[in-house]
Amino acid sequence: IAMYQAKASGGNGCELFDSSIHHQAKDRIQQEQELRRAIAQADFQVYYQPIVDLATRQLVSAEALIRWQKPGSGLVPPDEFIPLAEELGLIAPIDQWVLQTASRQLQAWQQLQPENAPPLKISINLSSQQINQNASLNELETVLQTLGSVRQHLRLEVTESVFIKNIDRATELFQRFQAWGMQICLDDFGTGYSSLSYLHRLPIDGVKIDRSFVAGMDSDPNKLAIVRAIVGLCHTLNKAVIAEGIENHAQRRLLMDLGCQQGQGYLFAPPLPADQIPAWLDTDPA
Ligand code: C2E
Ligand code: CA
Ligand code: CA
Ligand code: CA
Repeated sequence: IAMYQAKASGGNGCELFDSSIHHQAKDRIQQEQELRRAIAQADFQVYYQPIVDLATRQLVSAEALIRWQKPGSGLVPPDEFIPLAEELGLIAPIDQWVLQTASRQLQAWQQLQPENAPPLKISINLSSQQINQNASLNELETVLQTLGSVRQHLRLEVTESVFIKNIDRATELFQRFQAWGMQICLDDFGTGYSSLSYLHRLPIDGVKIDRSFVAGMDSDPNKLAIVRAIVGLCHTLNKAVIAEGIENHAQRRLLMDLGCQQGQGYLFAPPLPADQIPAWLDTDPA
């Protein structure tokens, strides 16, 4: 279509178009090479964003959020390379690396927790792309098997980048994960076209309300109505509900009034380097 439009717009336009396509293709090949190298060398860092009990501000879980430590470019945010990784079929090794890194980190943090504290959890993003690839799923299962007992403190956040084709296989897999004590949540809930159908077709423990609804729920009655509906639905279906992107007290208050118990957002903390999480482990519940 782009080619057709370029041609229709005249000779010059076509030339411009050709050279920009050439640049784009070159950029892409270069980006792909850089990304493959990054994966081979594990040039990534995991940041952790506290997920807290909204009433007490106590740390419940930490969401692992990847950054690419790209030579000469500093820390590249995930939105700038995760979609490319998914497109190139490279997301599985990335997600597996995060899973292993964050699980090791979790074990270290649990050692620091007071004896009687409920064990910290860790939330891991799992691209739905991986669920469609049998080879990736088998690898994921192997990684989880080797992790042993730390598994029971993992929460998988399934992000819908592509439609989950094999619902039967996903169901079987999630049930096995749940038997290991893991929790499965649907991420970015409300934004994907199939969120609702997944909710009743897959064994799911909870949902994360997307930031786009939480932002502005204190000023936009339509957003508030959507959040209220999601929380109500989750309560009816007996699912946990976690809000993301909480930036102010009004949003926190409204969410608590609706009966949402857990959340994350800049109001509490941004994603933090691992060494800043221990300060959260012994916070006073008051
Ligand atoms: P997400 O899973 O929806 O993660 C939440 C994003 O919202 C994070 O962006 C976080 O920094 C940001 N955020 C949290 N609280 C606030 C807030 O109060 N205000 C605003 N404006 N933003 C907030 P981040 O770290 O850039 O990650 C972006 C997305 O990249 C994630 O969205 C997730 O879909 C994806 N991602 C990150 N790490 C991984 C990973 O290891 N594997 C996969 N497959 N995807 C990942
Ligand atoms: Ca997430
Ligand atoms: Ca989100
Ligand atoms: Ca997302």
